[in-house]
Amino acid sequence: MAKPLPSKICPVCERPFNWRRKWAKDWDNVRYCSERCRRNRALADDPGSGPGRVDVPAAGAGRHVPAGKRHKRHR
Ligand SMILES: [Zn+2]
Repeated sequence: MAKPLPSKICPVCERPFNWRRKWAKDWDNVRYCSERCRRNRALADDPGSGPGRVDVPAAGAGRHVPAGKRHKRHR
């Protein structure tokens, strides 16, 4: 019976990947499924450009918005 290999989920491509022999020494430090994803980690880790940030079109662009009815947001 083979033991199941440990696996992790790559934060860059969000896919699970399995333990590999070459990672035996530092599996705890492995976070990405491949060298390629490791280089792309900025896409996943960079705060401010991740998912969840939505740019709202400028109010008043293309239609009239009464001054008193604009939604104000404080950030
Ligand atoms: Zn990946």
